[in-house]
Amino acid sequence: MGSPLEALGFDLEPRSLTKTSAGEWSLARRGSRSHLVVKAAPGHEAILGDFEGEGRGASAGTILVVPCSPKNAASLRKHLPWLRPQPLGTATSAGLGDRLGLGTPGHVRAVRAVGGGLRPIFAQQSIREMGRTGRTPQEVMDDATWGTFAEGWRDGVGSDADHLKAPDDVDACLAAGFSMFTIDPGEHVDATADTADGGTLRAKVAGLPWEALEDTEPDQRARYRDRQVVIEDHRFTLDEETLLRAAAKYGRAVAHVVRMERHLRRAAADREVELEVSVDETETPTAPAEHYWVASELARLGVRWVSLAPRFVGRFEKGVDYIGDLALLEKDLAVHAAIARHLGPYKLSLHSGSDKFSVYPVAAEQTRGLVHLKTAGTSYLEALRTVADVDPPFFRSIYAFARERYETDRASYHVSARLDRAPDADVVSEKEISSLLEQFDAREILHVTFGSVLNAREADGQPRFRDAFFRILRSNPEVYAGHLEAHFVRHLRPFAERSAG
Ligand code: ZN
Repeated sequence: MGSPLEALGFDLEPRSLTKTSAGEWSLARRGSRSHLVVKAAPGHEAILGDFEGEGRGASAGTILVVPCSPKNAASLRKHLPWLRPQPLGTATSAGLGDRLGLGTPGHVRAVRAVGGGLRPIFAQQSIREMGRTGRTPQEVMDDATWGTFAEGWRDGVGSDADHLKAPDDVDACLAAGFSMFTIDPGEHVDATADTADGGTLRAKVAGLPWEALEDTEPDQRARYRDRQVVIEDHRFTLDEETLLRAAAKYGRAVAHVVRMERHLRRAAADREVELEVSVDETETPTAPAEHYWVASELARLGVRWVSLAPRFVGRFEKGVDYIGDLALLEKDLAVHAAIARHLGPYKLSLHSGSDKFSVYPVAAEQTRGLVHLKTAGTSYLEALRTVADVDPPFFRSIYAFARERYETDRASYHVSARLDRAPDADVVSEKEISSLLEQFDAREILHVTFGSVLNAREADGQPRFRDAFFRILRSNPEVYAGHLEAHFVRHLRPFAERSAG
């Protein structure tokens, strides 16, 4: 199909070329825009009716050149079933969230480079970050579809509607075709239970929504009292105080997950979907006995899930390596992983998983591959690296702006960067400007200010950075994909090596 399209100024994207019995499918670029090209095989011309656009009939009724629109993405998923997100079950998996919508080609290359049985999720974004980036669940899904197709990835994908907090979130993501739903009951976790005295705990437990917990006997002690839990070589006792504390801390969260799961199963009807439970964004760590209690209660209430994200010990800050005692974290991972094997099996999910290079070998080992790695914001930092390569002064202006925004924007993230330790924008030479992405404080500052950077406007209402930022990424797709591939190979390799396959 090359020549007629080339005559019209289109460049075929070679990795996208896909042949099926119904025809040939590919992407072709003109300028910085991609278009879908569909060539029907003889007798299969009817498939062309599923696509919309002006560019019908580049070659008399058998070829279409149409825009990468939502309808055409949906039709592509209909005809190329490997582009449709599927539940991944307990297979070793990694989520590569992409806030800008142009990162999937680089993500695919990294997954392909590490090989093994690692199952990828390219469409993944939390409701919070969709709000910040002004994207809908459908846009997140479609951007991942186009990127997956562009790279010719045919080995299947999952998709993660991340950190959902309300039933409405579930509905919007279900309609967009998501297959995994991460339920975050974090705002129903009562961290004050960690240090509360016996009387306070008893009052908290008495106030739990027992009806939602379907319990006629509002006394968790009866069910678990003094149980000696022995799992592999881990042991702990569910004494009265431990049970009271677990129920006081997580009781409302359990009730919320139950409500969300039932809503999801009802709304999904006969569609196959899967669930993750995440309490990672809470103030205090999830003790092993608390994990055990939460999982036991969820199971008793009929909830089915494939992965669970406890809040581990130490600090999982955005965009930087683990902060804390790695030996303690390894012990923590070991016992949580054992509980997940014993009560599931389900996967342990590692959130804020970006850039935790010291943790990956330990996590892959302790979970024996029963693990999901979740990353998101670090792809934005690789986009910034691309900007720094292509237009250093523009990157410098973004960094200066990020420094101004940091004290405000840090509020909803776990970060500890300090402005006084981050180099001033003007003191770094043009040649070394991308080294700011390696400096701890500068990196966190850049990480948490992405929403402000993308949404900043000039006095006349024009976007201050957004358009130029996207123009650079669209005009330099190979630079961006190269940075993403190199960065993510380091993330994925330890897990690919442990993947059950
Ligand atoms: Zn999380």
